[in-house]
Amino acid sequence: MSLLFPALHTASSHTALRFGDRALSFRQLAAAAGGTAARLDSAARVAVWATPTLETAVGVVAGLLAGVPVVPVNPKSGERELAHIIADSTPGMVLADPEAELPEPLAALPRTDVDVGEEATQATWALPPEPNAESAALIVYTSGTTGPPKGVVLSRRAIASNLDALEEAWQWTSDDVLVHALPLFHVHGLILGVLGPLRRGGTLRHLGGFSTRGVTEALAGGGTMLFGVPTMYHRLANACESDPDLVASLAGARLLVSGSAALPLHDHDRLTAATGKRIIERYGMTETLMNTTVRADGVPRPGTVGVPLRGVDVRTVDEAGSRVPAEDTETVGELQVRGPNLFTEYLNRPDATTEAFDGGWFRTGDMATRDADGYVRIVGRKATDLIKSGGYKIGAGEIENVLLGHPAVAEAAVTGEPDEDLGERIVAWIVPADAQQRPDERELADLVARQLAPHKRPREVRFLDALPRNDMGKVKKRELPGQG
Ligand code: ATP
Ligand code: MG
Repeated sequence: MSLLFPALHTASSHTALRFGDRALSFRQLAAAAGGTAARLDSAARVAVWATPTLETAVGVVAGLLAGVPVVPVNPKSGERELAHIIADSTPGMVLADPEAELPEPLAALPRTDVDVGEEATQATWALPPEPNAESAALIVYTSGTTGPPKGVVLSRRAIASNLDALEEAWQWTSDDVLVHALPLFHVHGLILGVLGPLRRGGTLRHLGGFSTRGVTEALAGGGTMLFGVPTMYHRLANACESDPDLVASLAGARLLVSGSAALPLHDHDRLTAATGKRIIERYGMTETLMNTTVRADGVPRPGTVGVPLRGVDVRTVDEAGSRVPAEDTETVGELQVRGPNLFTEYLNRPDATTEAFDGGWFRTGDMATRDADGYVRIVGRKATDLIKSGGYKIGAGEIENVLLGHPAVAEAAVTGEPDEDLGERIVAWIVPADAQQRPDERELADLVARQLAPHKRPREVRFLDALPRNDMGKVKKRELPGQG
């Protein structure tokens, strides 16, 4: 396999990373990461305290250069989650920003500060030989939406092949400047957002955190691509609707990409109406990296996550375990995937790894249908989003999309609860747009029945001030009152 980051070996002065007002060229990055890599050889695994900083990006690149598996750690992890991740992954060292204060148990590990100062970025290092393509490059923990986070072992082969498939689908080049504001400890923010531009020889401009103003300014200032989660596009749509002057700042953006959770149709349509731009949706998981996307040269189809990436095979399997035929566009089945993008194993969980596969196919746990031409429609997660009510199987996402279209609804989540008569009854959780003016429950239920079907009518509507969400904006349905 070719080098993971060819541009690091070229001494190029092209900007690789920009975080706020600090930037490194590929030559400077090779120096800083090479220097850090040289200090890693005693560790079998290294944790990176993944603040949204230049140091984190350099630390991860250093681990990859040294061939030491990197475990990115969410600096906002609660005590229990942090203890779980460290006990599970047993890093021998932690890499951190010199300014970071590390909590236990990380504080007890040998610490190496990542140095991106002037001297460190001018040194010359002979970069180590490229490790084996099948060796573990990163151990990334899942988001913990359905249970405790699982450590996912990702090889260099999986990462490189997936980034190359995205290059092809998105026509991603070294001229692209990616704008992103996501955390750096998941696949989306780290592998796509940091390693993606580095592999292409392009530029990452990271904003440290999300604000609509920061994003629109960065796009107006030369950004060509934006990676975001649905909550960000929701806020961008709000901002562009209320301040039409912002629209011009998006004019130069070539690609607005959304992922990590379903993009509500309503937000897609609002942003397109306000800006004339379409949002490209892609679908992936920690275990599989990206599986499908709307292509840069493809026809967008809102409500779908596009078509399989080059080299990725996708199928849906019904409850009886049979493959749903390609011409059947109605039957919801579990999505299974196969390809060079798949993970190696769950760390320390051989049983979970075995259970996750059906032959060579990975069971995603996501339910989907497929259009006749291969576009994939995610219905939701098997565990939390598929409601069995009155003999029907109903996807929560479809109902959520209708509820979000109501002007008095700011956020919506739909769940199933045990019901003697129906098996499960549909419950809608609503955050009103105006806390003083709750929408009428009956009106909401009627809207769903009218737009979808009578059996999809919520039997109960409950109001909340906010939905429980994680740092990527994913709704944690298990944490709704009285659930899980
Ligand atoms: P855990 O596995 O710990 O419960 P998680 O599945 O949320 O957490 P991730 O690997 O970060 O952890 O997320 C992958 C999941 O995110 C997918 O299985 C899918 O349910 C959801 N997802 C990602 N992109 C999309 C998308 N474009 N549309 C709908 N769902 C998406
Ligand atoms: Mg998962």
